[in-house]
Amino acid sequence: MPRLSTKIAAIAESATLKVDAKAKALQAQGRPVISYAAGEPDFPTPEHIVEAALVAARDPKAHRYTPAAGLPDLRAAIAEKTLRDSGLEVDPGRVIVTNGGKQSVYEAFQVLLNPGDEVIVPTPFWTTYPEAIALADGVAVDVFADASQNYQVTVEQLEAARTPRTKVLLFVSPSNPTGSVYSPEQTKAIGEWALEHGIWVISDEIYQNLTYDGVRATSIVEAVPELAEQTLLVNGVAKTYAMTGWRVGWTVGPADAIKALGNLQSHLSGNVNNIAQRAAIAALTGPQDAAESMREAFDRRRKLIVGELNTIDGFATPTPQGAFYVYPDVTALLGRTFGGVTPTTSLELADLMLDQAEVAAVPGEAFGPSGYLRFSYALGDDQLLEGVQRLQRLFAS
Ligand code: PMP
Repeated sequence: MPRLSTKIAAIAESATLKVDAKAKALQAQGRPVISYAAGEPDFPTPEHIVEAALVAARDPKAHRYTPAAGLPDLRAAIAEKTLRDSGLEVDPGRVIVTNGGKQSVYEAFQVLLNPGDEVIVPTPFWTTYPEAIALADGVAVDVFADASQNYQVTVEQLEAARTPRTKVLLFVSPSNPTGSVYSPEQTKAIGEWALEHGIWVISDEIYQNLTYDGVRATSIVEAVPELAEQTLLVNGVAKTYAMTGWRVGWTVGPADAIKALGNLQSHLSGNVNNIAQRAAIAALTGPQDAAESMREAFDRRRKLIVGELNTIDGFATPTPQGAFYVYPDVTALLGRTFGGVTPTTSLELADLMLDQAEVAAVPGEAFGPSGYLRFSYALGDDQLLEGVQRLQRLFAS
C-alpha cells in the first residue's frame, strides 16, 4: 500500500512559485536578483480597503462565521460587478464567495467533472489548471496557439480537439501567462461553438479589469448570453485591487452548479475570512481611482518592457493587451552560446539568465511547450528597467 495518496503525489510543485522561491533564496544570500517571476501587484492594498478591514476587525459581528457562500452584502456587490463588467444580470444567490480565484477554479472542476471527462485547455495555460483538472479525475486536452496567433486559439482548433468526452472549455481572457485578450468577435465565435455542442465554459475573468490600449475584455456570457446556463465565471479582488494576500474570489453560475459548489465548500473550507469579505465589499463598492492608477502604472511598465525586450536579438514579444505579463518567444536563442553555456530549452535559458545576469523569469515549460519566457511586469519601474538592461548585455555577448 503506498504511504501517501498516489493522486496527490502526482501533483507537480507550482513552477512559478518555485522560480520565485529560488530568486528569493538568492536575494536572501545578498545577491541582487531581479525577479519577474511573481504573479502579483507590487502595490499595497488601497487605503480605504485596509480601513474597512480595520473597522471590521474591531466589530465582534465580524468575528463570527458567515454563511458558507459569503456575506449577503458581498454577494450583492459581486452581482452588481458582474453586470457592470461581464454584462450578465444575476441574482446574488448565483454567487459564491471563495478563498480566491484559485479555489474557484479547483471547485469548478470538482463540481463539473466525472472521471475521464475532457477539458479543453488553451495553451500556454496557467499552471494550476491541469493540476485542478487531474484532481477532479478529468483529462486536460491542450490546444496550443503560438506567438504568430497572438496565443489565441481558433474555433477550428477547438473543434479538432473536441471528442464525445469533451465536457468543459477553459477560457481565460486576459490570459496568464500571455496577457492576450480575445476580441469580442473571437469571444462570440468561441462561445457559440461551446453553446452549439453543449460544452460547459469555465471563464476565468480574474484579469478582466487590467486591459490597455482602450481594449475591454468582453465576457463570453456577454458575447453569447444563452451560454450563461452552462458557464461558471471565476473572478476575485486579488489582481485589480492588489489584494493577493487577502484571499477573496468568487464564482458566478447557474443555480444547480452554485448549489453544488455551496455544498462542497461548506465541507471544504466554510466561509471566507469575514474581515476579508468586508474589505472586498469596500473594494467593489468604493472609489475605483486607486485601482485605476495601478492599472495606469502597469500600462506604462508594459510599454517599457515590451519595447526593451524587443531590442534583444532573439526575443519575439507580442504586445499584450491585458494582465501584467509579457510572453516572448525565445526559440531563436536556443542552441546559441552565451557565457560558455548553450541552452537548448527555455528551462535552461531561464537558469542561464538567473546564474549569469541574476534575472528570474518563468520558463515556458511551466505553461506548456518550451521556447518561451514569462515576465511579470508587476515590479517597480527602476528594477524593471535594470533587469532588461542586464538581459540586453547578456544576450549581446
Ligand atoms: N486565475 C489566473 C489566470 C491567475 O493567474 C490567478 C492567480 N495567479 C488566479 C486565477 C487565482 O487568483 P487568486 O487565487 O489569488 O484569487
